[in-house]
Amino acid sequence: MESGTSTLRSENNVLKNNLEQAQAENRNLSDKLAAETARVGSIEQQRLIFMITTGVMAAVAAVIAVVVRRGRGTPATTPIQQPTAQLIYCPSCGGQLQYIPQHQKYWCPNEQKYI
Ligand SMILES: [Zn+2]
Repeated sequence: MESGTSTLRSENNVLKNNLEQAQAENRNLSDKLAAETARVGSIEQQRLIFMITTGVMAAVAAVIAVVVRRGRGTPATTPIQQPTAQLIYCPSCGGQLQYIPQHQKYWCPNEQKYI
């Protein structure tokens, strides 16, 4: 009886040791998993930051290109060419005539007719 009990006890101890080992291994794996998760997370973060940075830089470059092109296209010193309207007066009523480019004629607003 005595030996049986001690055998059970030693078996129990072996099982306990196995359990402790398994628990230690489990902790170790959990740590590894956490470390791996953090590593993958930081890679994803870096990729996201890279994409955002690249996008922002592309947008800034596009804006700069547009500004530079605009600056070259319309220098501030060149005035906008406005057709200077010649003042012509109606021969019949003496009112100021309006030149209508579509008809290449003068329009008298007083008489509502072309001259
Ligand atoms: Zn007139």
